[in-house]
Amino acid sequence: MGESWSKEFWRLVTDLTIFWFIGLLFGQPLWGLIFGFLFYLTLLGRRAWTFQKWLEQKLSEPPDDLSGVFEEFAYRIYRIRNRSRKRKKRMSELLRRWQDSSAALPDAAVVLNRDTSIAWFNSTASSMLGLKASDTGYYIGNLLRSPPFVHFVKAGDYEEQLEIPSPMDEGRTLNIRITPYGRNQTLMLVSDVTHIQRLMTMRRDFIANVSHELRTPLTVIMGYIETLKDDEDSDPAMLKDYIQRIEAPAQRMRSLVEDLLLLSSLDTGAPSSPESSSVINVASMVKNILTEVEHINQGKHVITQDMEPGLMLRGVEKEIYSAFNNLVTNAVRYTPDGTEILIRWRSDQTNGGRFCVIDNGQGIAPEHLPRLTERFYRVDVGRSRQTGGTGLGLAIVKQVLRRHDGELNIFSELENGSEFCCNFPHARLVWPEQSRENQRSAVS
Ligand code: ADP
Repeated sequence: MGESWSKEFWRLVTDLTIFWFIGLLFGQPLWGLIFGFLFYLTLLGRRAWTFQKWLEQKLSEPPDDLSGVFEEFAYRIYRIRNRSRKRKKRMSELLRRWQDSSAALPDAAVVLNRDTSIAWFNSTASSMLGLKASDTGYYIGNLLRSPPFVHFVKAGDYEEQLEIPSPMDEGRTLNIRITPYGRNQTLMLVSDVTHIQRLMTMRRDFIANVSHELRTPLTVIMGYIETLKDDEDSDPAMLKDYIQRIEAPAQRMRSLVEDLLLLSSLDTGAPSSPESSSVINVASMVKNILTEVEHINQGKHVITQDMEPGLMLRGVEKEIYSAFNNLVTNAVRYTPDGTEILIRWRSDQTNGGRFCVIDNGQGIAPEHLPRLTERFYRVDVGRSRQTGGTGLGLAIVKQVLRRHDGELNIFSELENGSEFCCNFPHARLVWPEQSRENQRSAVS
């Protein structure tokens, strides 16, 4: 900077000297100096005007026709402008990236000013809270009018979180957190916690159901124990009778605990892959199931089989046995005497393998069908308990099938019977060598 000032000074000195000398030639050195100074001022004014024009036009390059201090000024301003232009570009790139990533957030993000008016929000906030671009600058409580929310914002205790029904859909629950952010601003994050809420409700219901299911037989057992305690000289026949009566509720508790343990291992265990599974001979498995079921059937139902010769299944034998056994036992338990039950195990090109238990019993009303595989759901609670059902049978079937890449289809019509089918993909099926050859030629 010092250099340009000294240049400017020497320019003035040269200018004055030349004009003084010309003045001297005409015998008027003082007028020469005055003209010289005026000439300098004119040139200085012209340069100042060019400099001002350049400043106003915000041109990137400094003008060529500037010299002296103005050239220095212009050069310095040019450098500052250049730096701030680069900084601005970097900032807008950062802002664009932040806006892109916040738009991709599954949560709604709303930046609030000190007076809790809206400064900015992401696109999820539009769909989740119904905010529009024109809402920017308005008090958030005017747009989300839930009283607990308005109170939460006014209280300003941002250690707490709030859960409110969604303003867009009453059936959904939103969790709201507010964190102080930047200078006098706050960031409001809103997430949809409907799924977590449902899981918590399911867990609560499950615990309540288990407790209820265990309490009923326990109360019966405790009742007999109390009677026996008070009865000091009970006769052996009565004692035997009591013990027999205790056996049924104890057995129910055992079945319930066994089913719960099985369900919990099915819930937590890794699914079995077809390659690592054993090959199950379904026909001989069904034979074993029928032998086991016979003690509750006692010839009251006519059970027939339709089995595809040699068709086998890859899976965990214990789990598949439990699923198929549940379906056959249900058909015997929940249908009147004389009902015909058909057990079918067949495969086809489109559907893969199907294990079906079909009965012509009284069927199930359509309103119950979607809920049959829920834990502890029963159509007729009394009948289920009386026949030893825990309400977990079909939930177990569903979980077993999920772990074997299969699914459960239920068709039922009142008065016309029911059909429970387990579908397995082709990858789970095994044919003996001969059948496999036939299968291959059918595919080609
Ligand atoms: P449970 O342990 O009580 O048998 P499940 O989950 O196996 O429980 O079955 C749920 C309900 O479905 C049963 O309580 C019963 O009312 C009904 N159900 C199951 N299979 C049949 C069937 N074949 N015919 C009529 N109702 C059935």
